[in-house]
Amino acid sequence: MKCDEIQNELILYYYKELDSEKSAVVDTHLKQCQTCRDMLKEIEETLRLVDQRRDIEPGEELWDSYLDNVYQKIDESSPLARFYKNVFIEPKLAPILATSLLVIILVASSSLYLVNKNKTYEQMQLAQNIDLFMDFDLIQNLDLLENLELLQETDISNEQKT
Ligand SMILES: [Zn+2]
Repeated sequence: MKCDEIQNELILYYYKELDSEKSAVVDTHLKQCQTCRDMLKEIEETLRLVDQRRDIEPGEELWDSYLDNVYQKIDESSPLARFYKNVFIEPKLAPILATSLLVIILVASSSLYLVNKNKTYEQMQLAQNIDLFMDFDLIQNLDLLENLELLQETDISNEQKT
């Protein structure tokens, strides 16, 4: 597998959600690839923070409305976005991936902007897609989770439900 394929699996790898075959492939790759090891390290550090935030335990409704918003915006966009959408469709993983998407974006964008000096068309496209994700205001959405009680009081999640 190529580095970008490996890196797409790293979140699941961190959460030990990969099947044993894939997990072994990632293991093997990580042993010989410094770039992907660095990426995993960044993901681990960031997800640890994300997990601490998730101790707040948002309810199902909030996740539903949150994901609906993400889906809507993703619908307007590109193959990369559809890839993320497919990933989100696995319900068990949805909450993990929703919070992790931001991490992927941040990590990917920082490395992409470095790589971007080579400017292949594909990389430019990817960078644009990442800009699009940044526009999703995911940071704000994540911050909203901290104000969960406030959200419930104002019935925002109920509105979204219907
Ligand atoms: Zn690699």
